Amino acid sequence: MKIDDLMKKAVAFHGHSCPGVAIGVLASKYILDKGNDFSIDENLVAVVENDNCSVDALQSLLGTTFGKGNLIFLDYGKNNYTFYNRNSQKAVKLSFKPKNFGDKELTREERLEMLMNSNPEDVFEIKEVKHDPPQMAKIHESIICDNCKDPTMSTRIKILNDKNLCIPCYKMLNK
Ligand SMILES: [Zn+2]
Ligand SMILES: [Zn+2]
Repeated sequence: MKIDDLMKKAVAFHGHSCPGVAIGVLASKYILDKGNDFSIDENLVAVVENDNCSVDALQSLLGTTFGKGNLIFLDYGKNNYTFYNRNSQKAVKLSFKPKNFGDKELTREERLEMLMNSNPEDVFEIKEVKHDPPQMAKIHESIICDNCKDPTMSTRIKILNDKNLCIPCYKMLNK
């Protein structure tokens, strides 16, 4: 697929054009061009190590979304993307190369242009990794918060003075 077409679709979802979304477009393009090994369906799982603009490209182009549970966020602050396919049992990790923008300071426009003229292989270190996708989120029972009465996933309930509290109520009352 052409990078310009992918960018157009990702920008429509994300709201603006930026180097971040271009990084996500390049990661998505690698998977889309890979064909059968990484079919674009619910068996594709993406593990991302940042929550920046790039993730919106994955959500719009690959259908890996928080709502479906096939997008997993690790708060590492890195532009690394690991994709698992539960059908083919394949996994691949794309790591943004440190030297992508060279040593000189590039403007936002220059960075965007450089990315749009690159192939995924140019900007990412790409290697096959073991197929061990993280556990998918389980559905937990809800417990009513004793303070605000919101039904709250049991794993997020905190106990204070024998009361079951949701996280915001716990923070408010535990002072
Ligand atoms: Zn952006
Ligand atoms: Zn509450």
